[in-house]
Amino acid sequence: MQTHAQVVIIGAGIVGCSAAYHLARKGWRDVVVLDQGPLFETGGSSSHAPGLVFQTNASKTMCQLSQRTVRLYSELALDDQPCFYPVGSMEVAYMPERWEDLKRKRGFATSWGLEAELIDPAEARRKLSLLDDSKIHGAYFVPSDGIARAVRAGEALANAARAQGVAFFGHTRVTAIDVSNGRVQAVVTPQGRIAADLVLICAGIWGPRVGSLAGVKIPLTPVQHQYAKTAPLPELAGETREVVHPIVRHQDKAMYFRQHANCYGVGSYQHEPLLVEPDAIRRHDESPIMPSLMEFTPEHFANAWACAVELLPALRDAELTYKINGMFSFTPDSLPLLGESHVGGLWVAEAVWVTHGGGVGEVIAEWIVEGAPSLDLRECDINRFEPHAASPAYVRARGAQQYREVYDIIHPLQQMEQPRPLRVSPFYTRQKELGAVFFEGRGWERPQWFTTNDDRRGTIYRAPTIYRAPAVVVRRSGWAARFWSPIIGAEHLATREQVALYDMTPLTRLEVSGRGALAFLQRLTTNQLDKPIGSVVYSCMLDERGGIRSDITVARLDERRFQVACNGPQDLVWMRRHLPDDGSVELRETTAGTCCVGVWGPRARDLVQPLSDDDFSNAAFPYFTARQVFVGEAPALALRVSYVGELGWEIYTTADYGLRLWDTLWEAGKPLGAIAGGRGAFDALRLEKGYRLWGSDMHTEYNPYEAGLGFTVKLDKGEFIGREALARVKERGVARKLCCMTLDDPAAVVLGKEPILDGKRTLGYVTSANYGYAVGQSIAYGYLPLEYAAAGTKIEIEYFGARYGATVAMEPLYDPKGARLRS
Ligand SMILES: Cc1cc2nc3c(=O)[nH]c(=O)nc-3n(C[C@H](O)[C@H](O)[C@H](O)COP(=O)(O)OP(=O)(O)OC[C@H]3O[C@@H](n4cnc5c(N)ncnc54)[C@H](O)[C@@H]3O)c2cc1C
Repeated sequence: MQTHAQVVIIGAGIVGCSAAYHLARKGWRDVVVLDQGPLFETGGSSSHAPGLVFQTNASKTMCQLSQRTVRLYSELALDDQPCFYPVGSMEVAYMPERWEDLKRKRGFATSWGLEAELIDPAEARRKLSLLDDSKIHGAYFVPSDGIARAVRAGEALANAARAQGVAFFGHTRVTAIDVSNGRVQAVVTPQGRIAADLVLICAGIWGPRVGSLAGVKIPLTPVQHQYAKTAPLPELAGETREVVHPIVRHQDKAMYFRQHANCYGVGSYQHEPLLVEPDAIRRHDESPIMPSLMEFTPEHFANAWACAVELLPALRDAELTYKINGMFSFTPDSLPLLGESHVGGLWVAEAVWVTHGGGVGEVIAEWIVEGAPSLDLRECDINRFEPHAASPAYVRARGAQQYREVYDIIHPLQQMEQPRPLRVSPFYTRQKELGAVFFEGRGWERPQWFTTNDDRRGTIYRAPTIYRAPAVVVRRSGWAARFWSPIIGAEHLATREQVALYDMTPLTRLEVSGRGALAFLQRLTTNQLDKPIGSVVYSCMLDERGGIRSDITVARLDERRFQVACNGPQDLVWMRRHLPDDGSVELRETTAGTCCVGVWGPRARDLVQPLSDDDFSNAAFPYFTARQVFVGEAPALALRVSYVGELGWEIYTTADYGLRLWDTLWEAGKPLGAIAGGRGAFDALRLEKGYRLWGSDMHTEYNPYEAGLGFTVKLDKGEFIGREALARVKERGVARKLCCMTLDDPAAVVLGKEPILDGKRTLGYVTSANYGYAVGQSIAYGYLPLEYAAAGTKIEIEYFGARYGATVAMEPLYDPKGARLRS
């Protein structure tokens, strides 16, 4: 075995093989793949996965990863045997709610460019004669879904990679990973040590164990999952082809089915989650069959079998001849773990299904070789979690819940119930007194609305006087009414008309200081930050392709000290990775030790000024500036910025003064009619004002010019990450643009991710949607081809299968000149 490689991949399951193949295709051939088991039936999850590939997903990223996977597997063969069988898939609706949800699902497919249709029970039966069509309301059919042979595909990919020079070694267990100076150096095996520039962990359920060799927490838990195969069925007598029937999901009973020649396979998630400690996974020599298989537990399968027979009566008398409890990985949010960890050069591609394995290999290779992936991988970033998510207790609790909910109908705002509360701001007790309805975000308890504002609910039923009349009474029903309250509208209008306090504590804050601080930030951002002390600048951080990695607000507190408000832990890791190694910059997160109240509304100055000897006048404290002040006794940093589009300040103080600050502001606000506002109103306010939300309206697949953030780009300020790519974009121009649309029926509501159409042509999808309570319009944002971007253009938005007319509007809808912000 060699002693050095550019890349060592740990794991030769489908993910490791796919990553090796794609690295080799990109010209990285000095790659070694090691597996503790035999090649290519290694004993991992890929070795026993039945290989059903359902591409549809509420996540655009996940759907596109599976589309890439299907394209890849379809091109592969091993010994003239295909690696993918495009037999199509059917998701049947047993319950009426599922039928409604399948309409929503078809919307996702249209948005993400996947062909799909809804079919009636008779058509479902025509496609699969074993099905009892009297039991279903219809089905969702995707013709390009099918069966992947994971081991075959892995070996085919490995053969192609070998032909390019990649080496594969079975029976080679990695027992240590050498790390020094924060960088990976080598992997150690009983057969020898391999020094490596880069190590990629594709170890599936062993991920936490392998990660711990390098001090990297990989937050996943192995979970047992049941799969069984029948003896030959009389109905399939003589059938020798591997699979010709469409695969089936019976999600209302948490089950799925596939044909295996003249037999049938049945998978079940019906049972309580059976978690396995990563350290308890058996070794090859201790395992009766293979390490990722546990003994079948019939008591967990009995009910599932009854459900299977109900849907597919042909199974009634069948004997089960193959029964397993296989293991695979569940993460706290059910999404994969991809990217470079906090240890330099130590990469991870974990918790990936066969369904996504081909695409994941491709994007991870792009990321490694080209510096940035072509798909937005923010939802899968290994660095997306807050510290609590690495705790075994959290990983277990959330992993189990993800297993339970794997086929459930999940509302986009549905809240996790446990473990909570995890993180609370200093204002939490006051918020509870005010009847806050808390939603959770990154562990924080965040008020969505306050029930004590219910008495203001009447305000949304009268015409607002602010900007445009009349407001339409919004009475939501069904799906759109869930996790929503008309109180949100009342809080929205109170912010526009009077003043409201918003808890901004969960906003991730960093302090960047030192003699190199300015140069460091200039290199990471698009806007000019070399401004006088007290300036506040809104800017983008880009990746190497010029895509928006994040948007940040930078306050210059001192010559060499800046406060950066950003979008989460992945920003911190990204910035850390770019720190100069001469010690000239110090970077620390200040979120947990500090807190923030946003005081916004036309009466914000009337509220704050009497509490302070500092001058909050427009002349002394203009828009987009920051000052160190006292509010009452609390020492505070005040930033004159507003994400809701009104006069006001973000007021920061340390956590110990937090409660005092809140109480001081609250008491002073009472005579002015101040309220506490929740995230529900906050989001509606920002959309009305046209402020982009990172992750929805912008991410790495969009550049600032497309996102309407060209004003943050100063190409002439000097070098910064993404500048070259952006200069090229600027030269050739953009082909699409983020647009504001209003629904023609102002009482109609969409929630986001719905397809935007012109007749049969899909133009894009809704990136953000909400109701503008002050402008009296239902608002949707989305990227449209330039020829559709002019105000007045008519388009349609599909919501649960129905088409709604909408019109492109000039933006922002509210206070387009920004007069209220600067008042
Ligand atoms: C019963 C069951 C049914 C499933 N059905 C489907 C399905 O229908 N569709 C679908 O998309 N997915 C399905 N899955 C999930 C899917 O099987 C897995 O998510 C996928 O195979 C994981 O691939 P992987 O390459 O990451 O992991 P694995 O295939 O487990 O590969 C990881 C490899 O790392 C190696 N390794 C670990 N530690 C070390 C070490 N220290 N040194 C060297 N090598 C090491 C292991 O030996 C192993 O070969 C199913 C899973 C189960 C259990």
